[in-house]
Amino acid sequence: VIQICLPLSALGMIFRQSREALINAERMSELLRYEPEVAGQPAAELVLQGGAVEFRGVDFSYEPGRQILHDIDFAIPPGGTVAVVGGSGSGKSTLARLLLRFYDADSGSIVVDGQDVRSVTQASLRAAIGVVPQDALLFNNTIGFNIAYGKHGATAAEVSEAAKAARIHELIESLPAKYETMVGERGVKLSGGERQRIAIARAVLKNPPLLIFDEATSALDTRTEKAIQAELDQLAQGRSTLIIAHRLSTVVDADLILVMDHGRIVERGTHAQLLKSQGLYAQMWDLQRQQIELDASGTKLSAQP
Ligand code: ADP
Ligand code: MG
Repeated sequence: VIQICLPLSALGMIFRQSREALINAERMSELLRYEPEVAGQPAAELVLQGGAVEFRGVDFSYEPGRQILHDIDFAIPPGGTVAVVGGSGSGKSTLARLLLRFYDADSGSIVVDGQDVRSVTQASLRAAIGVVPQDALLFNNTIGFNIAYGKHGATAAEVSEAAKAARIHELIESLPAKYETMVGERGVKLSGGERQRIAIARAVLKNPPLLIFDEATSALDTRTEKAIQAELDQLAQGRSTLIIAHRLSTVVDADLILVMDHGRIVERGTHAQLLKSQGLYAQMWDLQRQQIELDASGTKLSAQP
């Protein structure tokens, strides 16, 4: 019995340690492999002020000889929003993984409210950061458990408040066992949009000063994306937010947009500034606009009998 239980409890421990990280099944194996490598044991807890984030000249490689990030410099002011756009594989999610300290920079530093992330405990760092990933991992457990996971010792009232803010409370109330309804393999199937609302409710409950959205709406259809975007915008109010975006429509209002290409920031500015400078961002914007128009005309055509 012990032999069977040990690996399971070890996995449970890892689940707890990595809570709110960019968790999905795939990344679990990454955590298992890499977590110990950055487990220096600083004693200090992160002391939060406004939630300012700074990347200072960050270089990074996952493996020797293949540098992924080159000289990354940017700042998120307290309560501000920085969006990162760029092609697949350009290094966007790597920024998030470094901020969460799944890995350490090769050179340069990442600083939260004046404290190098290497100088504070991982637990205190990750407690300060809420993550809404592309596809939230849900546990084979009740809906209530899955939301309460955002905060240790959350009360039922707090859980339903968070669900209301994420606009998923009514749906939960309509289920046979309400918050006790099982989700996952042996429970109700939730749509992508519903799972994202659970992830948002989790983040609302956690109430972190820092947020990361990593392509949080990119797996959703356009209509669901619009609906979820409103809740994400609300969640981001007053918090320092790093938005990694696939669709540019979601970054228009960011205080600063970074355009990444092959691990470098190649353009930066507001939406208006970047359009005006007619570079990569402006090209991406045109392409996405054309795609939207194409999709719209495709819908019209296919709607005909
Ligand atoms: P994006 O989020 O912009 O699509 P990522 O930051 O996930 O890109 O990845 C940037 C680059 O790093 C890619 O070339 C990817 O293949 C590589 N990469 C990502 N994760 C790992 C890993 N665990 N080990 C080695 N290379 C990785
Ligand atoms: Mg990514």
